[in-house]
Amino acid sequence: MPSSTLRHDWTVAEIESIYSSPLPDLVFRAQTVHRAHHRADEVQGCMLLSIKTGGCPEDCAYCPQSAHYQTGVSRTDLVGLAVLTEAATAARAQGATRFCMGAAWRDVPDGAPFERVLEMVRIVRGLGMEACCTLGMLNQEQADALAGAGLTAYNHNLDTSPEFYGQIITTRTYDDRLETLARVRRAGVTVCCGGIIGMGEDRGVRCRLLQQLARLDPHPESVPINLLVRVDGTPLAGLGAEDPLEMVRTIATSRILMPASFVRLSAGRLGLTDEAQALCFLAGANSIFLGERLLTTPNPGQSHDDQLLARLGMRLTGAEELRS
Ligand code: SF4
Repeated sequence: MPSSTLRHDWTVAEIESIYSSPLPDLVFRAQTVHRAHHRADEVQGCMLLSIKTGGCPEDCAYCPQSAHYQTGVSRTDLVGLAVLTEAATAARAQGATRFCMGAAWRDVPDGAPFERVLEMVRIVRGLGMEACCTLGMLNQEQADALAGAGLTAYNHNLDTSPEFYGQIITTRTYDDRLETLARVRRAGVTVCCGGIIGMGEDRGVRCRLLQQLARLDPHPESVPINLLVRVDGTPLAGLGAEDPLEMVRTIATSRILMPASFVRLSAGRLGLTDEAQALCFLAGANSIFLGERLLTTPNPGQSHDDQLLARLGMRLTGAEELRS
């Protein structure tokens, strides 16, 4: 499908109809779209490093790094360049072709910390990997400077629907998020933007989130779909576990709405069986996060992922080429 035929005008009724279709039909349709745009036997490996942890002034109800909640996550300063270089080099050796750096900031502080982040971007790009940052809200000058340093992508998630958003975050608005995303686009950096399921929302909320993502023109090149990791001390800790098949449906619908994007099976994989993850790949997920931790929460780790991909006859995109 040429990009000119990608749609940005999906109605909620259309999306709900896709999302709620019989699972075999939904997965078949998603897999058909997936194969028209991507290799079905490959996933991209990403590694996410927390470069500045905890003490965030925002109140995202799912987040153990928010200063509003007692979660036992300790605050750290921005890591140094040696730590970053070591982590990025190790990520590449594990098969990652994309290295993501996350800082628990409301917005990016100018001056020395930001200069150090720019240098981090240059280091990651110098290792031949895509570089992604998630640093909170950006102004245009900061977005332009990140672009100048060679940043591949900027992550800023919409998280959920505009209507449900106020139950999850009160310290900044949905429009704040959209404005940061627009600045990233203007700077010529690709957009990484997705959401979280399992926060007590219903299917209608999920479909409205997917509509918001698909409305972005161009579509986000990267769409992380996260399953809530329930962390003690956060307001969402007491919720029940989400049905893994809702994750499969969310991924399949994302794939159908945004055919050319990377749909990333992101946080929460430890809450999914290997078989559920396989279904997510059938539904069009084509990226996972490698390593033992995803920012502050646990992740399957290299040996488990190596075994899973081997069992599925799948491989990490470009890993061998980058390492050789
Ligand atoms: S998700 Fe990001 S912005 Fe929200 S509290 Fe956590 S670190 Fe802060």
